[in-house]
Amino acid sequence: MSLEIRSAVKTNDCWNVECMYPTYDDWLKDFEKKFSSSDVFSPLEKFRGRLAAGAGTVKDLLDHVFQADRDLSYLYTYAHLRHDEDIAEDRHKTGFIRICSVFHEFSRAVSWIEPELLLLPQEKISEYLQADVLKEYRFHLEKILRVKNHTLSSQEESLLALSAEALDGYTKAFSALNNADLAFGSAKDSSGKEHEITHASYGVFLRDRDRTLRENAFKGMHEKFEDYENTISELLTGLVKKHLFRSKARKYTSCLEASLYPKNIDTQVYHSLVETVNSKIGVLHDYIDLREKTMNVGPLHLYDMYVPVTPEFDITMTFEEACDLIIESVAPLGEEYTQILAKGLREDRWVDRYENKGKRSGAYSNGCHDSMPYILMNYKDVLRDVFTLAHEAGHSMHSYYSRKHQPYCYSDYPIFLAEVASTFNEELLMQHMMKKAKSKEEKIYLLNMKIEDIRATLFRQTMFAEFELSIHTKAERNEPLTPANLKEEFYKLNQKYFGPKVEIDSVAKIEWARIPHFYADFYVYQYATGISAALALADRVLHGGVKERDEYLNFLKSGSSKYPVETLKIAGVDMSTGEPVTAAINRFHDLVTEMRALL
Ligand SMILES: [Zn+2]
Repeated sequence: MSLEIRSAVKTNDCWNVECMYPTYDDWLKDFEKKFSSSDVFSPLEKFRGRLAAGAGTVKDLLDHVFQADRDLSYLYTYAHLRHDEDIAEDRHKTGFIRICSVFHEFSRAVSWIEPELLLLPQEKISEYLQADVLKEYRFHLEKILRVKNHTLSSQEESLLALSAEALDGYTKAFSALNNADLAFGSAKDSSGKEHEITHASYGVFLRDRDRTLRENAFKGMHEKFEDYENTISELLTGLVKKHLFRSKARKYTSCLEASLYPKNIDTQVYHSLVETVNSKIGVLHDYIDLREKTMNVGPLHLYDMYVPVTPEFDITMTFEEACDLIIESVAPLGEEYTQILAKGLREDRWVDRYENKGKRSGAYSNGCHDSMPYILMNYKDVLRDVFTLAHEAGHSMHSYYSRKHQPYCYSDYPIFLAEVASTFNEELLMQHMMKKAKSKEEKIYLLNMKIEDIRATLFRQTMFAEFELSIHTKAERNEPLTPANLKEEFYKLNQKYFGPKVEIDSVAKIEWARIPHFYADFYVYQYATGISAALALADRVLHGGVKERDEYLNFLKSGSSKYPVETLKIAGVDMSTGEPVTAAINRFHDLVTEMRALL
């Protein structure tokens, strides 16, 4: 069946962009009125060099900046949504490119503000932090000024700023190699048929029930990275050296601290994640033991980790049925939450539901302070998509509440918190479906899915976090990073995490070389902390009363008005301790026990 063109899609299946602008021409008019002139940001220039003038001046400037940001975000949101409806549509593409370039211009126009604030004398800073007129911006300023002690002289700072673009080369070179230059050939399945290996098909092959295909895809992918191990090792080493340069130049005690300190996340959060997972690694081995017994194919290999252990089973439902189920599943969050979400999904048209010709693939939750929290889906009646919808609805409700309850400058939530609300809603849906499951097969299928989710997000990402930390620590100690010792380190981690029941093939030692997230500056641990917080919170809400529920809702309403770890404390979890991670691992253990009993 060929896909519908965008103009043929029923209104009810499309997100409601008309409530932002009735037509694209109305958007264009508004855009040209507000942002088409070349000196649109010149009012900001008149503040440059004057930030010591007094609290009133700083407030004026921040008002200007946030208003411009708000206007731009509104225009951007509409252009972005229209662009993604059909990425081949030229008019929308042009509009999107235009608004993006204004956004870049805006970033350039405000880039001097933080450095100038940071170079103010300490007395001035204290004065501003006390000033009544800056009350609303106090925390915003505090976040910027937090790194004052790690800020250098203005000459040194301008040198650092100049070096920044040059030091981006490692990340860009890896991305070019990984996304454009490398070709992975093909993998034979058990009947001898060849399948092309790409980044997208690789994940599908690893879930295939044909073991020969899995093995060949795994080997084909990793052997290619092995061919380039010297180049990739230099790229990753270069990136680590870049972090070391930043850490030393700004006088941090470690690369990890240099990355986490500006966000006010204690390095203890990172260490306690790794330590807790290590101390409970037996729980993962226990699951692998069950996997080995169930699959019964002899010793397991890494390419046996993703295929479902359960017999073929399928749950399908329409979009409307998925909405009904998701709305039922959020009942523990109370009537208000349920009603807002139900209205958003069913009546207000938050969601762009199905695939059409040229529509952007995947799924996301988007929108801005003055719009609805839109959701892009490519919904296809399969269970994975039901969970994706629950996930994106979790993001959207978090955005909805934060935007409603916070002033503009605090209405976004930080990355550390981003995946908590979404994963939380997936967990509610899972628990709801488990309760309603009619057959043993259905239960096993659901359990397997959830177990794999936690394994891939909590255990695997913590293993990556441990690797990332260890290569930085080696560099800090002046120990060399070579292909051989990177491979050895990764091999040891694989052995530790997967345990005695898995044979780690030699070619798997190179896996670190294909992980793009290692170029994202201590990012991966947040997947693990995010799912831990979400599972701990879901457990707390499901087993708690009104107090626990309201605390969770207050967390959703907090946006970025506090530091992330503090924000989570509102909901009742303390990520500086190992407790939430322990709770998540206990949940994993319970799921494995339940699946073992059913199998
Ligand atoms: Zn998400």
